[in-house]
Amino acid sequence: MTRPGLCGRCAHARTVESRRGSTFYLCGRSRTDPGFPRYPVLPVLRCVGFEADRDGGGNPDETEES
Ligand code: SF4
Repeated sequence: MTRPGLCGRCAHARTVESRRGSTFYLCGRSRTDPGFPRYPVLPVLRCVGFEADRDGGGNPDETEES
């Protein structure tokens, strides 16, 4: 399985599992900023939008900081 890189511990990432069991990372920032891909190509090694997830894992519900 491909390592997710930064998306694996980003507060804006959400994991989506396909019917075939593959896991994708959905970038929450893509909803408001077209500069971010909806499904980033993994592994993401550098990203200006990265924010560390407090839990260190994928967040089931993207939280927008305001
Ligand atoms: S902001 Fe960057 S690191 Fe975070 S989920 Fe989106 S692409 Fe991944």
